[in-house]
Amino acid sequence: MENKRTILIVEDDKYIIHFLSVSLKEEAYTFWTAGTVKEALSLFYANRPDLVILDLGLPDGDGLDVVKRIREIASTPVIVVSARQEEGEKIRLLDAGADDYVTKPFYMGELLARIRAALRKAEKSSNGPGSTFEDGDLLVDYEKRRVEVAGQEVHLTPIEYKILCLLIANRGKVLTHHYMLKEIWGYAEGVEAGTLRVFMATLRRKIEKNPSEPEHIVTEVGVGYRFK
Ligand code: CA
Repeated sequence: MENKRTILIVEDDKYIIHFLSVSLKEEAYTFWTAGTVKEALSLFYANRPDLVILDLGLPDGDGLDVVKRIREIASTPVIVVSARQEEGEKIRLLDAGADDYVTKPFYMGELLARIRAALRKAEKSSNGPGSTFEDGDLLVDYEKRRVEVAGQEVHLTPIEYKILCLLIANRGKVLTHHYMLKEIWGYAEGVEAGTLRVFMATLRRKIEKNPSEPEHIVTEVGVGYRFK
């Protein structure tokens, strides 16, 4: 499944660039790499990535300046990845507008989870407060985390709610089982496709008039699900 999110890596350590590239490629992110402050800013302005991974010690300056310059024009999430440990440093960065801080050495799995969280947060805030989604008799109020069917509130479990929001955010597109398991649980290994089927069945019972002939969520046999 194609991942449309784009990432700018700002890092001058070739080994780390390689390490990050392999994992981001595996997750199908599109990304650019910059080794200096100057390159970082020109790539940022040219490509407007969805997220920035930022090292602090760069040959021509400090990552802190990159955060400040980005914040002048955009609210793009910035995750600082640095060996610097001092608390004062972290506070300065967060004050300048960095979204998260990961200390080197780090686990790739953790960084990937933080990337997903930062992207989700950015997406949510761009939806704006009080935004709702309506499709026929189905209403989702994102701010209140409330779902209604034909004017009646239905109670979804957190997983059911996540599944519904994921499908709506990608409406019209087929989401594979693997992709959904990864997005919902954060990993696909060890979670059976059958688990997803169980949640899907309970979700449909709650939001579909006739769960065996669903109007909202259709099954793409052997592949996954799609929100109409
Ligand atoms: Ca460095």
